[in-house]
Amino acid sequence: MAHPHAFDLFVIGAGSGGVRAARMAAQRGARVAIAEAAALGGTCVNVGCIPKKLYSYAAHYAQDFRDAAGFGWDAPEPRHDWERLRANRAEEIGRLNRVYQRLLEDAGVRILRGWASFVDAHGVRLETTHGAEHFSAEHVLVATGGTPVTPDIPGAQLGVSSDSMFDLDPFPARLAVVGGGYIACEFASIFRGLGAQVHQLYRGEQILRGFDEEVRHFAAAELAKHGIDLRLRTDVRSLARAGADIELALDTGQRLQADTVLFATGRAPNVNGLGLEAAGVRQGPGGAIVVDAQYRTSVPSVYAIGDVTARLQLTPVALAEAMVVVDSLFGEGRRQMDYDIVPTAVFTHPNIGTVGMTEQQARERFGRVTVYRSEFKALKHTLSGSTERCLMKLVVQDATDRVVGLHMVGPDAGEIVQGFAVAMKAGATKAVFDATLGIHPTIAEEFVTMREAAR
Ligand code: FAD
Ligand code: NDP
Repeated sequence: MAHPHAFDLFVIGAGSGGVRAARMAAQRGARVAIAEAAALGGTCVNVGCIPKKLYSYAAHYAQDFRDAAGFGWDAPEPRHDWERLRANRAEEIGRLNRVYQRLLEDAGVRILRGWASFVDAHGVRLETTHGAEHFSAEHVLVATGGTPVTPDIPGAQLGVSSDSMFDLDPFPARLAVVGGGYIACEFASIFRGLGAQVHQLYRGEQILRGFDEEVRHFAAAELAKHGIDLRLRTDVRSLARAGADIELALDTGQRLQADTVLFATGRAPNVNGLGLEAAGVRQGPGGAIVVDAQYRTSVPSVYAIGDVTARLQLTPVALAEAMVVVDSLFGEGRRQMDYDIVPTAVFTHPNIGTVGMTEQQARERFGRVTVYRSEFKALKHTLSGSTERCLMKLVVQDATDRVVGLHMVGPDAGEIVQGFAVAMKAGATKAVFDATLGIHPTIAEEFVTMREAAR
């Protein structure tokens, strides 16, 4: 029988979620097309996780050079070449773009370059440099990600979003960062490490809203130690040109001069120009596409995953959601994603790693919990002379002895917490943590050697 549609699955957006869904569906025999208006790999590969982490490594060297002296190393004052870092990053990202292309081609996915929008529940129009084409598919998956939002203040156009930070020219000697979330804290750390004078302005009481309270305070103190001028309860009223400078007028009455102003003030679902109304897809607050537990929208043939649904904006979450869709359409059947134990790291200096509930969430949910915490100077810094400290914390539900929250501020917290996330997913109790031998001497062993309850 002839197929009523040209494709079984048409994916809009070749970012983290879209590429995973397209590849895996094609590997299971589906006829798949993917449309991408910009570079393959999406936010994570081009202007997110990957280049950000590469720059974070670059910034860490500054600290390593300083730390080395206490271990007997004498070296000339290091000098950083921003242009070389930019060029090397661009080359690596170009390589990754090609890897993504090959992965899709090898799986048999048809890659379409252009802007896709809905014509109806099964029809997509693609705007390319050569004109418009139309396609029809049994299922359409929207994986268009998010886009940075900037506050509506006078002179806002003088500021930039994280998208522009990787290719700044020249390197900003003075950077003002607006915001207190992941991006603000990470970029403040990175540019401070690379040698900029950094002012971070956050409107609230403490940065990283949603994280464990103790972690927020501890991390803020560490960022300040690293030389970031962190100003809490401070917002920006306006930006204006003042010669070569950008002048920020703050709501505290103060003024600040900077070469670059980064607005790290959140990301909104990328839905403009998608024609969702043509298909009848229901949207929620901020334009986010509303989906059910299988990521099906209000239109049965249309699915949506990743940042465009404005849930947890993380690459592994988009990947996992993609697999739920692929399994339910072309494979093992319906299943549901568990958002309870999602590990995450903020790549500040030092890193923040966290999985499970904050102490506050656990108290609200379970009433009785026991908290174990350890704060210390890492062995390395006994010789390096650095004043950096670590915080490690376990939150245990009294009724079951299960570790329901695990938090860390310290070197390589992302790497360490990833392993412990497996234990938590497996339902490990504090008794299991206690029965686990440490690896000595490491920072990570502290998680299995905390015996005294803090409260
Ligand atoms: P995206 O990866 O954003 O992909 C969407 C794609 O759709 C884009 O390529 C876009 O061009 C394309 N598109 C949009 N509309 C159309 C259209 N109409 N037609 C055709 N194509 C279209 N997450 C982590 O887990 N770890 C990190 O360390 C991390 N760091 C980050 C750092 C920064 C600076 C940023 C901004 C984000 C970071 N994230 C990180 C978040 C992560 O990048 C996102 O959660 C993830 O990329 C979301 O994937 P997605 O598939 O939903 O969308
Ligand atoms: P976040 O939502 O994490 O933080 C936005 C920040 O901007 C908050 O501090 C918020 O304050 C503040 N803000 C919002 N609106 C305004 C305004 N009008 N004026 C002043 N401040 C404002 O978003 P990000 O942009 O940092 O990052 C987007 C998402 O990308 C993250 O939530 C995360 O999911 C993902 N990401 C993940 C990373 C990782 O895994 N390491 C790294 C980078 C991004 P308030 O708290 O008061 O609302």
